[in-house]
Amino acid sequence: MGRDMSDSIDCVVIGAGVVGLAVARALALEGREVVVLEAADAIGTETSSRNSEVIHAGIYYPAGSLKARLCVEGKHFLYAYCSERGIPHRRCGKMIVATRPGQDAYLDKLRAQAAANGVEDLRLVDGAAARAIEPELSCDAALLSPSTGIVDSHSLMLAYQGDAEARGAVVAFLSPVLGGEVRNDGIELRVGGAEPAALRARLVVNAAGLGAQSVARSIAGIPAARVPPLHYAKGNYFSLAGRSPFSRLVYPVPEPGGLGVHISIDLAGQARFGPDVEWIDDIAYDVDPRRADGFYAEVRRYWPGLRDGALQPAYAGIRPKLGPAGTPAADFVVEGPCDHGVPGLVNLFGIESPGLTASPAIAVLVVEKLRPGF
Ligand SMILES: Cc1cc2nc3c(=O)[nH]c(=O)nc-3n(C[C@H](O)[C@H](O)[C@H](O)COP(=O)(O)OP(=O)(O)OC[C@H]3O[C@@H](n4cnc5c(N)ncnc54)[C@H](O)[C@@H]3O)c2cc1C
Repeated sequence: MGRDMSDSIDCVVIGAGVVGLAVARALALEGREVVVLEAADAIGTETSSRNSEVIHAGIYYPAGSLKARLCVEGKHFLYAYCSERGIPHRRCGKMIVATRPGQDAYLDKLRAQAAANGVEDLRLVDGAAARAIEPELSCDAALLSPSTGIVDSHSLMLAYQGDAEARGAVVAFLSPVLGGEVRNDGIELRVGGAEPAALRARLVVNAAGLGAQSVARSIAGIPAARVPPLHYAKGNYFSLAGRSPFSRLVYPVPEPGGLGVHISIDLAGQARFGPDVEWIDDIAYDVDPRRADGFYAEVRRYWPGLRDGALQPAYAGIRPKLGPAGTPAADFVVEGPCDHGVPGLVNLFGIESPGLTASPAIAVLVVEKLRPGF
């Protein structure tokens, strides 16, 4: 960084993932001075480049939750923004499939849940109608979601970064936040790296993803009671050799901890399966090839045509869960001064799926939470 304590900045965003960059863009568009501090040497090297790149419709989340509201708002923003900015994306649609007895009733429940979230375009079809749409599919019934799509997440992050930098924001790489202190006139941050530095910021947004809890705990003056626990739920992906058998995304009904081993397609037409749910104690991104066994069984429930040996270990991402295995999925936590009492600070915790889709709407909420008197 090469700055010293006399350096006083209007806003610091910690973390240059998709959420931090969306926030930096929103703050810069408001005319604020913004510095993004990123520990790695590039944008989006963690969860933001280790996901399914799906623009979620907003189906699954409890009505009134931040996940439901910010996903739906983010989806609308993303389709318009991606078209305007030439960001590769496709509104390819998705099918959620019932493959076991009783699951079609679950699809009905999902449709009602989606409607409660303002997603009114889902259509329930029987197995024959589903096969007419996707001939390789095997299922008893399917829920069609026409507003689900895919996006090139790296291009999206570059666009956010470009907008922020065009308004004067600076992204400082290899600049890990090591700790700090809440003061009367702002928040002091200690920044490591080749040129350690200290900064004082009037506003700080902690968008450090898997590092958000440790960043919050390292800043004296942030109430410990407002820092939730963190649990890691890894999601492993396997890629499929050859072209995708489907032109839409195909999801089973959700499983505890995730959305089920689904097939997603990238913009080049390559298919990948995942993510599964593997609870882990330490961050590690290796994919154990033996987990493929479970994938074959799961995927063949809706795609019997999957050949032995067709799956190759691909990559993994880690969900920043706020509760341990077996507990209901928590909502996003976006806390500002009126929640934790620290002026000028917003902490973001538990930004798992649909955080990519919701990123522009999370940014709007963060900016609101930083307004005086909010
Ligand atoms: C398996 C999986 C699949 C998913 N699929 C989808 C999907 O299809 N659609 C969807 O909408 N969402 C999806 N998500 C969710 C989405 O990927 C995340 O919500 C989103 O990427 C989170 O972005 P972020 O910026 O909060 O975190 P990150 O991308 O993790 O960024 C945090 C950044 O903070 C930096 N950092 C950490 N500590 C420090 C520090 N002390 N100092 C400075 N920098 C620091 C890190 O280096 C990192 O760059 C998925 C998530 C997972 C795990």
